[in-house]
Amino acid sequence: MTPDRLAFVDLETTGANPVSDRITEIGIVAVDGDRVTRWNSLVNPGCRIPPYIQALTGITPAMVADAPSFESLAVEIQERLAGYTFVAHNARFDYGFLKNEFKRLSMRFQADVICTVKLSRKLFPGFHRHNLDSLIERHGLHVNDRHRALADAELIWQFWQQVRSHPGPEALYEAIRYQLIRPTLPPHLDPGVHDDLPDLPGVYLFYGEGDVLLYIGKSVNLRQRVLSHFNADTKAFRELRLGQQTYRIEWRETVGELGALLLESRLIKELQPAHNKHLRKNEELCSWQLVEMAPGDYRPRLVFGEDLDLAGDNGLYGLFKSRREATLAMKSIAEANQLCLAVLGLEKTAAAGRACFGYQVHQCKGACIGKEAIGMHSARLMSAIAKLKLKEWPYGGPIGIVERDEVSERQDIHVVLGWCHLGTAHSEADLPGILESRRPPVFDRDTYKLLTKHLAAKPRIIRLARNADWRTDKSNPDRD
Ligand SMILES: [Zn+2]
Repeated sequence: MTPDRLAFVDLETTGANPVSDRITEIGIVAVDGDRVTRWNSLVNPGCRIPPYIQALTGITPAMVADAPSFESLAVEIQERLAGYTFVAHNARFDYGFLKNEFKRLSMRFQADVICTVKLSRKLFPGFHRHNLDSLIERHGLHVNDRHRALADAELIWQFWQQVRSHPGPEALYEAIRYQLIRPTLPPHLDPGVHDDLPDLPGVYLFYGEGDVLLYIGKSVNLRQRVLSHFNADTKAFRELRLGQQTYRIEWRETVGELGALLLESRLIKELQPAHNKHLRKNEELCSWQLVEMAPGDYRPRLVFGEDLDLAGDNGLYGLFKSRREATLAMKSIAEANQLCLAVLGLEKTAAAGRACFGYQVHQCKGACIGKEAIGMHSARLMSAIAKLKLKEWPYGGPIGIVERDEVSERQDIHVVLGWCHLGTAHSEADLPGILESRRPPVFDRDTYKLLTKHLAAKPRIIRLARNADWRTDKSNPDRD
């Protein structure tokens, strides 16, 4: 059965970008069984309309000057669309624009969506073009006022009626079914979850029987990601089984992807869910440090956990999950560079001053017996491991990484020091609390990787002072 309440929607806008452009006109043909209601309104976009858009739509600044703003229409539009399946031509565009307009007002808008471009492709795969003009021509649609919102919504409604009579309602249903798949939630899960999950970035937590924490995940779209755990079409059996074991779902929204990644990484370490295998707490995290034993004589030493202070230049090389992993890595570097395992402290010789095993098989250039000067060996060691060197914290003190959502204008400030995430402030008022926190920062490999990558892209940062007397400096000295 096709849904019986359908809203055919078309928008005119000031451009194609749903973040920076705005709506200038909305047209809705609402169909509820036999009852058809038409509604449209010009919308004052509160910004300029580029001349080429004016030429395309015929909507001029003078026409919208006295039109209501989206804000004043929002409640009415929300009510008109509530309970209706949203149908539009290239629906991602119209649905996205509308969602963003609601988001600016901190209002939620969510609907099942059918795209008539996808529908046309599915029903008439032999045709190459599926834009509205092609449909008009192909199906002999009756054109009234092309490129105006209500007229275009009317065209989509006409197209829908045509395919419903030919090839018929069953073929129509078959063609839209995959667009409307609603995953089946397990019976013990609150069905309200389906409507409450937001299309926003964040972290989600799955709890099982007895409220045991099973899994923590993150996504740029919580709704899509969480529901994918319950979609029978999903290929990943493990995911599907996890969904079936879930009794309760919690989520925390974030402003963006970085916030979701940082929060996920922290929560997994703090809460250690049963099914997060790969990001478990790294008790044995270690790194090689070069220590100068005598002038010019550098030897590697393994440093662990809390000694891994990356806030200064501590000459650290590589991050390893265990002593075993670190040793294997150093051994393979030694082998590739004919370094001496005895000098590196990875092999004991029979007695001091005796050659290592590698020397006998030409794997060592003789640093163990003074044939190679120890300074030379040190220099070769340094160049061999240079590419493993951990990036020094370049900012001295703590910084705030600003993550902003341009549509909702919400922003988070992620406070970071020495590659450790200290916390996330939702406003500047939260900053002192985070900076004064006595909880020692915990260094971990995932966060290090995440932050080095993110900071390389030169986000907006704020320099912060370590004590409560923090100050903000809006400029990014690394920018141009
Ligand atoms: Zn040797």
